[in-house]
Amino acid sequence: MSGPALGIDLGGTKIYAVVTDENHHVLSEAKTDTDSGAPPEKIIDDILELGRTALRELDLDLRKISHIGVAVPSPVDPETGDCHYANNLGWRDISLRELFRKKLGQEVYLGNDGNLGILAEYTCGAAKGARSAVGLYVGTGLGGGIVANGRLHTGYRGLAGEFGHMIIRQGGRRCGCGRRGCAEAYCSKIAFVKAIRKAVYKRGVRTLLPPDKFNRNTKNIKSKHLARAYLAGDPAVCSAINRGAYMLGVTAANAAGLIAPECIVLGGGVISALGKEMLPVFRAGFEEHLVGIDPSIIKIVFSSLGDAAVAVGATILARKKGDV
Ligand SMILES: [Zn+2]
Repeated sequence: MSGPALGIDLGGTKIYAVVTDENHHVLSEAKTDTDSGAPPEKIIDDILELGRTALRELDLDLRKISHIGVAVPSPVDPETGDCHYANNLGWRDISLRELFRKKLGQEVYLGNDGNLGILAEYTCGAAKGARSAVGLYVGTGLGGGIVANGRLHTGYRGLAGEFGHMIIRQGGRRCGCGRRGCAEAYCSKIAFVKAIRKAVYKRGVRTLLPPDKFNRNTKNIKSKHLARAYLAGDPAVCSAINRGAYMLGVTAANAAGLIAPECIVLGGGVISALGKEMLPVFRAGFEEHLVGIDPSIIKIVFSSLGDAAVAVGATILARKKGDV
């Protein structure tokens, strides 16, 4: 448990590293772009290089760090460390733990990003004190995680908590996973960009966003750009985000029916930028679809660890040697 820990959040667009102390305080951090489309070996090199950068600030050496955790945008088998599928990275069945072992010669603890986000919020953030909690993270995709009765619930082969691919509209929008109607196809940056592009080019809806951002290869507009356009009343952006917020509420209602959490934590880049604005529409979707539970007994809170939540969760997983 003691000594500094290194935690990495591997996202679809960014890799984020933190070094924490025993009280889970962030001592240093570093960021770089994800070379998405690159083979896993190259991404591991990038991760380790970023880790070295974050450690260098504290005069620490990667080889002397005994707790290293990595969060990935994929379900992770807790037994084998295999990543089942990371759609945003184009990965399928990658033995990531084994690859890290070969490169680094020491144990690296791996977990799903949404799972580790809620683990961090439960341990030292917005869900502290709740025995059961659900996390929903709106970023490039839509991640989720469950703490049930004080334990991270990862399920059989680590496949639990995939709220982003919960089907909330049968036959609905096409999702990156190949199916239709997933929550992520409505509430994620990828979904917003697709919806905005469609509104602008097919229906002639006005937008304040620069048209070059709508290039097909540019999957992401930064959350702050979306926020600025939303606050200015941009018709295409407001419509995409309000729809997404409502569908996130529907997703949260389904999750609540399944888990009966004391609290639901909303996080991720989009929520950091627009959480307050999205909350009323979210609540409408949530309350209209919640059955058998009084909505007032479930606390809806924003992530208090912000951008660092997932990476801090990775350090907690590593400190506890996967026993969370
Ligand atoms: Zn899906």
